[in-house]
Amino acid sequence: MSFSSETKEELIRLPLERECCVLAELSALTQTLGSLSLAGGGRLRISWQTENAALARRIYRMLKDRMGLNPHLHFVEHSRLGGRKTCVLTLGEEETPRLLVALRMMEPDEQGVPVLRRTLPRPVITRQCCRRAYVRGAFLGAGSITNPDKAYHLEITARDEGLRDLVEKQLERGGLPARDTLRRGVPVVYLKGAQQIADALALMEAPQAVMRLENIRITRQMRGEANRGRNCDEHNSERQLDAARDQEEAIRLLAIHAGLYTLPPALRQIAEARLEHPELSLEDLGQSLDPPLTKSGTASRLRRLMAEARRLRETLEQQAAEHQT
Ligand SMILES: [Zn+2]
Repeated sequence: MSFSSETKEELIRLPLERECCVLAELSALTQTLGSLSLAGGGRLRISWQTENAALARRIYRMLKDRMGLNPHLHFVEHSRLGGRKTCVLTLGEEETPRLLVALRMMEPDEQGVPVLRRTLPRPVITRQCCRRAYVRGAFLGAGSITNPDKAYHLEITARDEGLRDLVEKQLERGGLPARDTLRRGVPVVYLKGAQQIADALALMEAPQAVMRLENIRITRQMRGEANRGRNCDEHNSERQLDAARDQEEAIRLLAIHAGLYTLPPALRQIAEARLEHPELSLEDLGQSLDPPLTKSGTASRLRRLMAEARRLRETLEQQAAEHQT
């Protein structure tokens, strides 16, 4: 299971607590997953759609257990999408106005009759507890986290401008400087960096996800330090430097007495790279080539180059000896 799905599972298991928070979370879930439709006679019906059955059950419990409403839950199977199921929760037209008033989408007119004012909830979020619940709802409805093994990135899709502004504002008040951008034409709010992702997970109340993230982060750091350490050892090793000096000398000999152009292209390429970067380890020298070469590939080419130089040196010595006699 992906890091994102595991995090969502953890959040969905959280108990439904205070009334204010249930409303804040439900507002965000309605902004991201909800839609209004006409039920005839000008009456409205509200529904929520998600492929996450556990999330659908959480919304069901909010409506049923916490608000005393009677939503209807059913599944739509998509034969074209590999049999994937969408869960659809619907509230009948008798009960919809009550919920819309609670979500501040409807307001009573002078006669006390509820009138639709806006098509999406406008939650009032003043307390820290509701901020947590709201961000959690937005993430559950439209968010995702990249696997932290690859990158530190969390984003929430926000097609609606009001939703985008509210999500950004709540993250900022939670100490998280969110940014927004367009992804394939759709606005998204996002956070980057391990610390920010960890703080966002903590804000949404997912301590297990924070711990998993910290573990991945430590492993990544250790891997990075091990790599740097190895490069450093190689870089500093006397033998490595001696070998590089020998290579350089051999290449100069070949260049002066035979011309690098007489070498096979693969050897000429490594010879030129070594002259240009006498300080690089085998690994880094290989990486500097285009296309890059493995460490063993680089070592093998340099051995062939040294053999060419040895043959040339023998020939030169022979010629010198013949010249003397
Ligand atoms: Zn609250």
